[in-house]
Amino acid sequence: MNDYQLYIDSEFCESSDGGRFDTVNPATGEVWASAPAATEADVDRAVRAARRALVEGEWPTLTATQRGRLLSRLADLVADAAHHLGEVETTDSGKLAAETRAQSAYVADYYRYYAGLADKIQGDTLPIDKPDLHVFTTREPVGVVAAIVPWNAEMFLTATKIGPALAAGNTVVIKASEEAPAPLLEFARVVDQVGFPPGVVNLVTGFGEPCGRALTSHPMVDKVAFTGGVDTARHVVANTAHNLAPVTLELGGKSPILVFDDADFDGAVNGAVAGNFGASGQSCVAGSRVFVQSGVHERFVDEVVRRAEAIRIGDPLADDTQMGPLATRAQRDRIEAVVAESVDQGATLHTGGCRPEGLDAGWYYRPTVLGCADQDVRSTRVELFGPVMSVLRFDTEDEAVALANDTEFGLGAGIFTRDVSRVHRVARAIRSGIVWVNTYRAISPIAPFGGFGNSGSGREAGVDAIHEFTTTKTVWINTSTEPMSNPFTIR
Ligand code: NAD
Repeated sequence: MNDYQLYIDSEFCESSDGGRFDTVNPATGEVWASAPAATEADVDRAVRAARRALVEGEWPTLTATQRGRLLSRLADLVADAAHHLGEVETTDSGKLAAETRAQSAYVADYYRYYAGLADKIQGDTLPIDKPDLHVFTTREPVGVVAAIVPWNAEMFLTATKIGPALAAGNTVVIKASEEAPAPLLEFARVVDQVGFPPGVVNLVTGFGEPCGRALTSHPMVDKVAFTGGVDTARHVVANTAHNLAPVTLELGGKSPILVFDDADFDGAVNGAVAGNFGASGQSCVAGSRVFVQSGVHERFVDEVVRRAEAIRIGDPLADDTQMGPLATRAQRDRIEAVVAESVDQGATLHTGGCRPEGLDAGWYYRPTVLGCADQDVRSTRVELFGPVMSVLRFDTEDEAVALANDTEFGLGAGIFTRDVSRVHRVARAIRSGIVWVNTYRAISPIAPFGGFGNSGSGREAGVDAIHEFTTTKTVWINTSTEPMSNPFTIR
């Protein structure tokens, strides 16, 4: 069994009271590792280490190019460790190894991208409306950044926060999820080899209470970058009333996929399958409301059902597995309950809605397709974070847009059509942070990512993310040969 440790001020250590918690392999339901349960005192130590590193020692004296080199080294080390990091993530979260290995390797590209951006963060010279004054701005690091991530893509969601934060000269305290902390605890071992000055990167593991609360309300935290659920986000925002730290929120979704009659049929089916059954549907951008135009509706439902039933479910470490378990038992229980409630409300269960036979250990659930007459059905309203596709029918483009926008969320959206004018009309009309056209679930370090409404605020990835981790300083310089005049002398 792996007994991990916290990483504070470049040292691996236990929690202050020796408390630990177990973490379970979702494929077997068995405990396979344990992590320290960080206390308020541990969080305080980590934040103070980050604050020291921000203002003292080597980190604030490094040039932006030197910071970029450290991030480049981190990228190389993550790439070297990608296979191992992926397998640890699979063991802890149940996500397919094929996906976690590839994602860990791609995470290196996020660090590489921000390594390159580090020395391109620049201010402006202002054409000021006063004589003899030279005014310029610089983009300064915000300070100590608290980076809080959920269990579903920890390596990736950490990179989208600490990549831009470190590039801009901040220091960070990362809080891993209590549901699957191991990937980040392994990542801390990689970080330790980079050569960051002590305290620049710290990692704590623990529960929302006290660890998450202590971190987000700490008076020395200057910025919170949070990914997680909407209810937790409300706590985080309330916590930041104590330190007035600005918050970036990457929250959930109930993203629509619109399939028009003229769409490439196979492409649209692939989009819906990827958007709902990829990562067992445990994706914030899951396209879990699929709106299909009447002309292809019946054929579409038949085909997604056939595809769902053909998915090979099993051990997420095995190469031929296409769908692993859900990450937690609670997650599976909740999905079962919402699917049952939706069927009670009149939804048609086309396939799934139960656990697969022969996989009694672990938190497996069959890919599920529900036919829904309208959005009064619960499965069309709440984020399920599981392999459940709700399919609805529409007739006109206006109707499709109205249905798509009838949600509290606004993270992703998919449009499948061959009509280029319609692409522009619908992409403009849909309220979401990301729109994919004739594709789905594509991401890149270069492209901003984030949502509207209850899907959050602020953007991760791309150049936009740098702005989330910097603040403007305005410098006024008197260039006159005369000293500043007496303010009480009227000329
Ligand atoms: P969660 O909200 O339960 O937990 C997220 C993190 O918040 C965990 O580390 C948790 O310990 C911490 N936390 C809990 N209480 C806290 C508190 N009071 N103060 C501070 N931190 C606290 O989320 P989850 O169930 O682990 O993850 C699933 C959610 O994450 C889904 O809603 C999903 O859509 C969302 N998500 C969003 C994105 C995105 O980029 N938009 C990406 C992945 C996941």
